Amino acid sequence: MSAVIQSPTDSQSDDRVQVAEEAISHLASLTAQRDREQLDVTLAQGVLDLLNVTSSVGVYRLVGREDETRHWLCSGLARRGQLTISDPPWVDLDSLPVFSDYPTRQQAMEGRSLEQIDEQADDALPVAQQNEGDRYVTVLPLLVEVGLPGILEVRSEQPLALETLRPIQTLLRVFGNFQNLLESSQRDTLTGLLNRQTFDATFLKASMPVVADGLVETTVERRATAKTGYWLGVVDIDHFKRVNDGFGHLIGDEVLVLVARIMRQSFRHYDRLYRFGGEEFVVLLRGGTEEDAKAAFERFRTNVESYLFPQVKTVTISLGFTEVQHQDTPSQAFSRADQGVYQAKHQGRNRVLCYEGLVRDGVIKVEGAHVGDVELF
Ligand code: GH3
Ligand code: MG
Ligand code: MG
Repeated sequence: MSAVIQSPTDSQSDDRVQVAEEAISHLASLTAQRDREQLDVTLAQGVLDLLNVTSSVGVYRLVGREDETRHWLCSGLARRGQLTISDPPWVDLDSLPVFSDYPTRQQAMEGRSLEQIDEQADDALPVAQQNEGDRYVTVLPLLVEVGLPGILEVRSEQPLALETLRPIQTLLRVFGNFQNLLESSQRDTLTGLLNRQTFDATFLKASMPVVADGLVETTVERRATAKTGYWLGVVDIDHFKRVNDGFGHLIGDEVLVLVARIMRQSFRHYDRLYRFGGEEFVVLLRGGTEEDAKAAFERFRTNVESYLFPQVKTVTISLGFTEVQHQDTPSQAFSRADQGVYQAKHQGRNRVLCYEGLVRDGVIKVEGAHVGDVELF
């Protein structure tokens, strides 16, 4: 790589053309991605290919709520000669490294600047972070405005020259623009939650690895529950027309924004939250038993009920949920959860009802099928 910073000879200008070609080719692969998680893996691999003396390139995102301790999730890690990997998105927050334990990453992100340190010269660094062989750590911020903030971390045996990093910085600018665009297209503008189109696109991906996930569970708490599945919750605000009629649409919109915020605070970082339009929301909850899912949804319901909304004061929600089945389509699962909402409204609102529970209790009749079987209809 040092060839790039010397005065160009014929072979060096060939090198430059090759680097430019590689960079453009990586841009093409990046912008072909529609999957945000895959995007980070592609970025890590692309940067590793461009910096041919580097030992590893990682993309790390900050996860967790702003009012809590935030953690670093590795969303793409490329090492020479090895498959590019990432932390599983459902990893427990507490098992991840803490934000403030990585001052270089923190500085790069907060200052939106490039930082480079020599770890062997840095006594302040925890021993766990010192690594023989990749002595130099270069951190560049991801230029993202929508979605999770993060950094790109390059580990190398030699310090990286500014010239070497210039194509990477350009790549990161394009990456940032593309990610902002991708995120905006997947989010609802009022609440910032994922939109309905994204639900249909990601439902299958999220619901498929149910069995595999169960095998890689690591926490004792989760291992105790034999069955892991996805749970789909449909949320409808109670008497929302009254809010609009009594206080006006602007206050109505504010309620929607606040309910979305309570939602973010009520679920885990890997649960997916959507606004389906109007005053209807959807949660794709990962893992646990029916009781676990019920407890999570109940927590959200009581958080809404006990929140003091400006002017309106009290707002409540009705929620129906169902276990996602292996061969479910998004609309089948949605329709079961929605029957739960219907019953919750019918039974007086401000409650959480499970579709499978309603079938067991005979409240909902399903012809020719047993709950728990793949075929429900
Ligand atoms: P229920 O408890 O049965 O759900 O009663 P509800 O009044 O909430 O039921 P309904 O679904 O009939 O009414 C939903 C209302 O939500 C209708 C519409 O005026 C309002 N609404 C839909 N989208 C928006 C929005 O984006 N902003 C605001 N402010 N209101 C919306
Ligand atoms: Mg409604
Ligand atoms: Mg409603």
